Amino acid sequence: MSMNNQGRPTRPEHAEGSADTFTGNRALMLEERLIFEIGAIDRTGIDLDEMPDSASRLGGLERNRSIGLAGLSEPETVRHYTRLSRMNYAIDLGLFPLGSCTMKHNPRLNERIARLKGFADIHPLQPVDTVQGALQVIHELGEWLCRLTGMPAVAMSPKAGAHGELCGILAIRSALEARGDAREVILVPESAHGTNPATAAFAGYRVEDIPATPEGRVDLAALEARLGPDVAGVMITNPNTCGLFEPDMKRISDAVHAAGGLVYCDGANFNAIVGRVRPGDLGVDAMHINLHKTFSTPHGGGGPGSGPVVFSEALAPFAPLPFVEKRGDHYALIEEETAEDHHGSSFGRMVAFHGQMGMFTRALAYMMSHGADGLKQVAEDAVLNANYILRSLEDVLDAPFGKSGPCMHEALFSDKGFAEGFSTLDLAKALIDEGYHPMTMYFPLVVHGAMLIEPTETESKAVLDEFIGALRSVVERAKAGDESLHGAPFHAPRRRLDETGAARKPVLVWSEPEQVEAAE
Ligand SMILES: *Cc1c(COP(=O)(O)O)cnc(C)c1O
Repeated sequence: MSMNNQGRPTRPEHAEGSADTFTGNRALMLEERLIFEIGAIDRTGIDLDEMPDSASRLGGLERNRSIGLAGLSEPETVRHYTRLSRMNYAIDLGLFPLGSCTMKHNPRLNERIARLKGFADIHPLQPVDTVQGALQVIHELGEWLCRLTGMPAVAMSPKAGAHGELCGILAIRSALEARGDAREVILVPESAHGTNPATAAFAGYRVEDIPATPEGRVDLAALEARLGPDVAGVMITNPNTCGLFEPDMKRISDAVHAAGGLVYCDGANFNAIVGRVRPGDLGVDAMHINLHKTFSTPHGGGGPGSGPVVFSEALAPFAPLPFVEKRGDHYALIEEETAEDHHGSSFGRMVAFHGQMGMFTRALAYMMSHGADGLKQVAEDAVLNANYILRSLEDVLDAPFGKSGPCMHEALFSDKGFAEGFSTLDLAKALIDEGYHPMTMYFPLVVHGAMLIEPTETESKAVLDEFIGALRSVVERAKAGDESLHGAPFHAPRRRLDETGAARKPVLVWSEPEQVEAAE
């Protein structure tokens, strides 16, 4: 088969296994080429009036050649994106079992609220008096987050989980600097999410690992032994990436505080404990909450997200700007701090404006429609569903921490018992042929060939049973050494891709085939 510069087969013989169709389409599964390949410079879906001469107004800065973007007519445009969307998988198509990602149903009620004109059509530079309702939403959402976490303060502006981590670590650094105690090390347990060490390193800290116990929890003795005057703090993911609650959390916090450090908790997966556990009671000083996971706002494909951070009394004075404050009946947006007004010790600003309005409205609608009891049930059902998966599959799949008791919101398995030469990757690809997005693979690193499955609380028993049946069937093939597994997926829009090549030599820019040929 011939390949063009994108590694995509060229027409007409391009869809593997379907060289017999002229179009490359496979029945109603339609092929789609890049917009650059099907569009043309002189084609467009809109009619614009001739531009009046604007050269004089632009003072010589006007564009003098085409920017070379290919255009399509309106129906071609609609079809292009609709066809692409059909090559994708989505939570609205089926169960999306990615561990740690909380791919749950997003209630349509939230979408309706977010689309109300008073929220959707406002601008961050509008006068504060004209956006009182929006500020009230931000304020009330912050109050919910403080109440649910048992923490006194919250920063609403961070735009994702990892951004929230950075916010928390910068606050920790400011607090330590304010007391003239610049420490250099952040301890990160092996069972933490990968963004934790990345954040600490990005903020200029030296990262040191704390080992996990054979039960998949933080090794408290090893942590205590390492604490000292150079340790700024710890970053602990709880529930951790083995899907387990850290029962020693309070003892960990007490030990870190006694050694003069601060405690960061990664609360991205708060859906496992919301309404059941208040991190403030466990001695946490800062924790981000992924609204786009726990509080159901849609996510995937790079955004949008929202990662508010709650703070303890110790860190509250260092929280970032801007923030919303209620003054009588009025909501003020505090853009600058003065020592008289506030503490005057904010570490500064992480983003231009206040955060993600669309995520705030969705999250608040979700909380208000569930109520405190409903949110508690979210955690209970998320944990129940994960344990149902764990116990339904542990006769065919190795569950390395299955003996440690129930899991939290996700079930973890290893590749132990697969026939020689069969891997977690083979299994994940075969799952695509069964119509499922694969689970999280090869993470956490502490488990060989890890498979991390998070069903979330929004799936019914019938949906879980069907998934369990599909997974069981591919596991049995992997154990029996069914060679066809190595070729999967067979029925997806693309066959197995070169994942190493995609990561090491990504082709991110389209260039005209002639230029590529000339270069080769
Ligand atoms: C998703 C996740 C993050 C990162 O959140 P982003 O919004 O993707 O930046 C961090 N920690 C844990 C445990 C997560 O599950």
